[in-house]
Amino acid sequence: MQLDVREIINVPGERREFDYQPSPEGLETGAVAALLPGWRAHGVIENRAGVLHLEGTLEAGVTYECSRCLKRVDKALTIPMHAVLVEQESEEEPDAFLIVGGMVDVDEIVDDAFILNADERFLCSEDCKGLCSRCGADLNEGPCGCEKEIDPRLAVLRQLLETD
Ligand SMILES: [Zn+2]
Ligand SMILES: [Zn+2]
Repeated sequence: MQLDVREIINVPGERREFDYQPSPEGLETGAVAALLPGWRAHGVIENRAGVLHLEGTLEAGVTYECSRCLKRVDKALTIPMHAVLVEQESEEEPDAFLIVGGMVDVDEIVDDAFILNADERFLCSEDCKGLCSRCGADLNEGPCGCEKEIDPRLAVLRQLLETD
């Protein structure tokens, strides 16, 4: 969403609120398997002593995939958004967002906040047992029946015992 800030850009103390539903795309990274519909971003852009600051909240629904068992779990995230908005890039504010023609692209700030805050790794539960490396069964649902991996040194020993 493009937000028009021309009326507050030169007026210290002025503010402009926003509240909209972003439609994000292509943010599936790390453990995020899918984006759920119904995201909401709301907050305010305020002129503090001549500099525009954006403070807001992103409410984002995602489907995470467990890093161990690949089970998918839906989660609602509440992510804080902070941004400084400038008309010209400067070395003092390398992370600032650009105001172009009096407009701020809030979608960019939403995407950035999401990428910084969404979990790179996700476990369906702290003690998720994961999948069997041999047969792929979900070990959370019980043992799969595969024999336990045999230590090669023990295998040699067993062979010796059997030939005796
Ligand atoms: Zn899991
Ligand atoms: Zn197995």
